[in-house]
Amino acid sequence: MLAVNIVLSVWFAIIISASTIKEFFTVLNDERIRDPLTGLYNRSGFFEKSKALFAEPDAGHIYVVMCDIDFFKKINDTWGHAAGDQILCRVAALLRDNIRQKDILARFGGEEFIILFQSIDEASSYHLVERLRSKIENQLFINNIKVTASFGVACIASEEHLMNALEMADQRLYSAKNSGRNQICF
Ligand code: GH3
Ligand code: MG
Ligand code: MG
Repeated sequence: MLAVNIVLSVWFAIIISASTIKEFFTVLNDERIRDPLTGLYNRSGFFEKSKALFAEPDAGHIYVVMCDIDFFKKINDTWGHAAGDQILCRVAALLRDNIRQKDILARFGGEEFIILFQSIDEASSYHLVERLRSKIENQLFINNIKVTASFGVACIASEEHLMNALEMADQRLYSAKNSGRNQICF
């Protein structure tokens, strides 16, 4: 009887330790792939999670969107870095709340975000990005600050073309900036 009790206790302890260790590594991995300020995926998270989207393609095409807040340096200079941080968090939440759960959103750099999403055609993908642009433009942030963002969008032929599409979206973002900002270059 005693032996059975000991075996059961040891078995139980092993199961508890294994699940604690698993949880520990899950938390560790989540920290590795997330941006601490906004809670969005970081660059590593973006590339890691993008694999899943390519693995389960629906009808239509996959698009990549580069989004960069306009004149953000001026916002920091005028209102301070803490206000800038709050705006970054709010923009991140706004983007997250206006895409689908399956879409992948990440903070790609300082005030730059990236989205990977699937859409049946060019018109509906344009509408999605236009909704994001307009939501940001019409939002009143802390201290009633208003900000805008510029967008570059590219369609991705297949997973191997992801890096090419990122480069294309980046060039288009640059064009959107040079054409006056607060706009989408598709
Ligand atoms: P543009 O319209 O051409 O994009 O102009 P910009 O001022 O947004 O671009 P620029 O690259 O000149 O400046 C980006 C600014 O973003 C400067 C940097 O201090 C700020 N920034 C980057 N990361 C953070 C952050 O984590 N928090 C805050 N508050 N500011 C940040
Ligand atoms: Mg900017
Ligand atoms: Mg930038």
